[in-house]
This record gives sequence, structure tokens and C-alpha cells, in this order.
Amino acid sequence: KAFLARIAATNDKVNSFITVCEAEALAAAAEADQRIAAGNAAPMTGIPLAVKDIFNTLDVRTTCGSKILDNYVSPYDATAIAKLREQGAVIIGKLNMDEFAMGSSNENSAAGPVKNPWDLERVPGGSSGGSAAAIAAGQALATLGTDTGGSIRQPASHCGVVGLKPTYGRVSRYGVIAYASSLDQVGPLARNVEDCATLLGAVAGYDPMDSTSVDTPVPDYLATLKDGVKGKKIGLPKEYFIDGLDADVKKAVDAAIATYKGLGAEIVEVSLPHTDYAVACYYLIATAEASSNLARYDGVRYGVRKDEGEGLIGMYSQTRAAGFGDEVKRRIMLGTYALSSGYYDAYYLKAQKVRTLIRQDFLDAFEKVDLLLTPVAPTPAFKIGEKTDDPLQMYLSDIFTIPLNLAGLCGISLPCGNSSEGLPIGLQLLGKPFAEAEILQAAWAFE
Ligand code: GLN
Repeated sequence: KAFLARIAATNDKVNSFITVCEAEALAAAAEADQRIAAGNAAPMTGIPLAVKDIFNTLDVRTTCGSKILDNYVSPYDATAIAKLREQGAVIIGKLNMDEFAMGSSNENSAAGPVKNPWDLERVPGGSSGGSAAAIAAGQALATLGTDTGGSIRQPASHCGVVGLKPTYGRVSRYGVIAYASSLDQVGPLARNVEDCATLLGAVAGYDPMDSTSVDTPVPDYLATLKDGVKGKKIGLPKEYFIDGLDADVKKAVDAAIATYKGLGAEIVEVSLPHTDYAVACYYLIATAEASSNLARYDGVRYGVRKDEGEGLIGMYSQTRAAGFGDEVKRRIMLGTYALSSGYYDAYYLKAQKVRTLIRQDFLDAFEKVDLLLTPVAPTPAFKIGEKTDDPLQMYLSDIFTIPLNLAGLCGISLPCGNSSEGLPIGLQLLGKPFAEAEILQAAWAFE
């Protein structure tokens, strides 16, 4: 009830919720009370959570931030949602996001922009902007987001919360609306590292309904959380400490490095030589996959239909013209171009090869170090409207988060200081495949 009251008092300003599930939440909370009284509570029982509007939720609207799904109600729960419900979590609502998770500022939402709770004139980051802002505004204890190129870590950084992108395959994506299937991954955002570890443990694991989920045991993330970083080798990839880095970001990250030294970690410089190609490579792969995934929104099977009586093709094009926003259209066009006959080898296939080199860079670095430490974003949260006219500038705001998705590895973003204007700054720790326990442990030691 306290969280629902907080949402009612603040959502006008922050715009982080697209849908508030008041009646469902109160019913789930009453059930959780009974479960607790009966002595069979799970760690998630009674915990008020909210989820990005990309997760299918039974009987509750799922819009994915798009007009084309404005009226869409899923007939089933995504696996991550079903797992949370089984454990008695209370899902209080669906969070604002960039349309189809395409964006870095949450300005591409049919539900309007999310405002950064630290400064309402600034963006919260994206695409899981609502998921980060809701926590920062005290509207939910923890949330779920998705991260295709940084969409959990970058908003976590801009809103001063903790966000983790698990290894590709760690959390089921069944029932999560697809953007770029070889990159998308579900993950938790929370106020602190321990909550983030708890929520990850609750949703991780093999799911026969997602053929990319990996059948490897889920460790007890809390068991090793407080073991410290003494003797750990932390690598600083030199390509991430570039000249364009904002002075406040550099200062905060340098201070974090000093803290890790003080905690007994060994700091080593490493190189990820193909980093420069990551953004270009990502925007080929992500748009190609998106153009294919978004072909299903044709006015026939899902959501809104526009039909002025011009036949089937007319109905498709009217529906898609009216239903998709500008950024989504831009990406469908880019992706369709890259996949068109004769261009596949030059673009998509080439990008896949570069992607392998980028992954190999990480695996080589992890031969020498246990973790990597980098900034999350080149600057703190920027002003609403500042980058909307320049897609390339917008794309570059994910320069430090995108390579990890291409490599399929895990990473966490946690607060490490403030800018001179009082805006949160994030620190990124990257880990080996399925080393979520290790990055959580290092994050906890810092926090
Ligand atoms: N900003 C990146 C994009 O627009 C990443 C988005 C995401 O991780 N979903 O594609």
C-alpha cells in the first residue's frame, strides 16, 4: 500500500509506470500474508516489484512502449514473471520503456518520456528507464528490465541504482517481447547489490520454453556475496578510458579503482582491441534481428489494426505506419536493408565475424584477470531533448555497454559517486560467462 501511494503521488512527475496493477497487487499481497503466516514463505514472498512493460503478464496490458500494442493483453505470463508469482512476489505494475526497447533515453515511448527522479529535466537512460526511475523514486523495491545493448546498466547508472545484465542464457526470455534475439537478456535492478542478487536468484535458471536458456545450476548468489575481493585481479580495458570521457565520470571511476586497491584487489591494464567496432557491429546485428522480429506486428495477430479498406497490403502498411514510432521505423529500415539480397554477406555476416573477434577479446582478457572495471556511460544523465535530433550521438551513449552484449557475458552497474551537479555516476564490472556470483561479490565489496 505504501508503494501504491507513492506511485499515486509521484507518477505524474516521473511517468515511470504505464500500468499500475492495484487490485491484482493487493490480492497478491493478501495471499503473501497468508503464506507468511502459514510459515512457507520464499525470499520473494510479499516483495513489491514492478516489471518493464516488455514482459508478458497474464490479464494485464503489455504495450512494450508502443502504440501498436496499445490494447494487447497476453494470454500467458513470461517465465520470469511466473517464477516470481510462484514465490509470492507482488507485482505492482508495468514500467515505461523505449518502444520495443530501442533507445538510450526513454524518449522513444508511446507513453511519453520518463523523467530522471534526480533531475526531472534529464533522461533516466533507456531503454529500461522506467525500471530504474521507479526504484530511484521509491515506487518499487526492485524491478526487472532487459538489456540488449546496455538497457539495464545505463539507466541504472543514470538513476543511481544497481542493475545487472546476466550472461546470455542465464534467465529465460520466454514471454519477453523480442527485440534482437541474439543479444536480449532479462535482469534485475534494485536499490542495492544484495537485493539485486536475491532477485537474480529468483528468476535465473533453465527453461525448456526458451531454447537459448542454458541448463547450468543457479548458484546461491547470497552465499558468496560477502567474500570480498582480496587477491582478485581486476582489469582496466584501456579502450574504455578514452579522452572524451566526462571529467566527473573519470574522477568517480578513478576513485572506485583506488577503493578496490584498498580492498586488496590487484589492478592490471588490459586491452580489448576490437572495441572501436562494437557500436557499428551492434547496430547491424540489432537492427537486422529487429526487422525480422517486428515483422509479426502486421495488424492480424496482435494489437492495433488500421484498415481503411485498401486490401491486405494496405492494411499492413496502414497498421505499421500508424503503430510504430520513428525510431522503430528507422531500425526496421536499416535492418531490412542490411538483410536484403546481395547485402547479407557484406553487412550481417561481416558483423557476425566482428562480433566473434569482440567476444574473443573478452575471453583473452579473462585469461589474465578475474573481472573488468569500466565506466557505464561516457557522461551522467543528459537533458531531455538533447540528443533526439542526432541518432548517432544517442547510439554512442552505449559505447561502454554494447560490447558485453555482443560477447554474451555478464555485467553489473552500481553507483560510484555523483557529478558536480549531483547526478549519479555508475561503475561497471564485467565478468566471465556465468560469473554473476563473482561480479555481485565485487560489487558488494565496493558498496
Ligand atoms: N540503446 C541500445 C539500443 O537502442 C540498447 C537498447 C537495449 O539494451 N534494449 O538498441
